[in-house]
Amino acid sequence: RAKEAGKNGYQLFTAAMQQTIMQRIELEARLSDALCRNEFVLFYQPQVDLESEHVIGAEALIRWQKPDGQLVYPDEFIPIAEECGLITQIDHWVLKAACRQANKWREQSGRNFKMSVNLSSEQFAKDQELVQRVKNVLNKTGLPAECLTLEVTENAVMSDTESAIAIMTQLTALGVSIAIDDFGTGYSSLSYVKNFPARYLKIDRSFVKDIPGDSDDMAIAASIISLGRNLNMEVIAEGVEEQTQIDFLKQHRCQQVQGYFYGKPCAAEFFSQQFF
Ligand code: C2E
Ligand code: MG
Ligand code: MG
Ligand code: MG
Repeated sequence: RAKEAGKNGYQLFTAAMQQTIMQRIELEARLSDALCRNEFVLFYQPQVDLESEHVIGAEALIRWQKPDGQLVYPDEFIPIAEECGLITQIDHWVLKAACRQANKWREQSGRNFKMSVNLSSEQFAKDQELVQRVKNVLNKTGLPAECLTLEVTENAVMSDTESAIAIMTQLTALGVSIAIDDFGTGYSSLSYVKNFPARYLKIDRSFVKDIPGDSDDMAIAASIISLGRNLNMEVIAEGVEEQTQIDFLKQHRCQQVQGYFYGKPCAAEFFSQQFF
């Protein structure tokens, strides 16, 4: 009996695997169509200066709006786009769309508004054309380089440190800022961080979400804030949802916050209604 069950279990498993592979192939094809059909949309989440509590910028976050209206989140398709090589085109589309929007908001509001754009860690250090592409997008959209921040993860930098630092240095020379995203979750050692020409460190949400209950997370968050201060970097806390977290971060003089407390990522029209 046990043998029979095992056999059945095995058959079920292969059927499930087969289905997964088919779904995967279909997803790759549909992602490629999605680019041509303009099915990607950007949502924007406010970035808030903690001292003044003013919205000083936004992070652009991609979503895939399928023709049936279903909204697909980046964790579901970015890893696949990275594997099948579509990520460079997708990130380029995001960069253009986000810079165009930022320049519109800058002109409408009459103040310098900062836009943050995520770059795939898979591509960052390998992408020889990135700097030129960023330059072109800034020229075309009219957005001043000072208004753009590019977010990369620690691992993007650590996979090929020398090349990544060279690219970050060139981007910084253009006037663009670099943020190290999801800081604390990757593999970078502190001795490397000081060599990153980055302006911002973003404390990963995993260290913020259990403040003030978890004393380890509080110690880590406080350490990152003081690390930033000592290295002359500004620290942005991600995933802030509660007033008690704001209190803690204020007390430790974290410069910026992002999270549902101030606003969930939302469509551009909704963002400007709320924050301008
Ligand atoms: P990320 O860059 O670390 O972005 C922060 C994620 O945390 C976003 O998820 C955001 O919606 C979510 N978040 C923000 N505040 C809160 C909060 O208070 N509570 C909770 N529970 N979550 C919060 P999202 O939009 O699903 O994006 C996930 C990841 O996908 C991003 O992480 C980023 O790594 C990647 N991604 C997003 N857009 C792009 C893009 O245009 N290009 C690339 N290459 N990656 C992107
Ligand atoms: Mg980010
Ligand atoms: Mg992050
Ligand atoms: Mg993340």
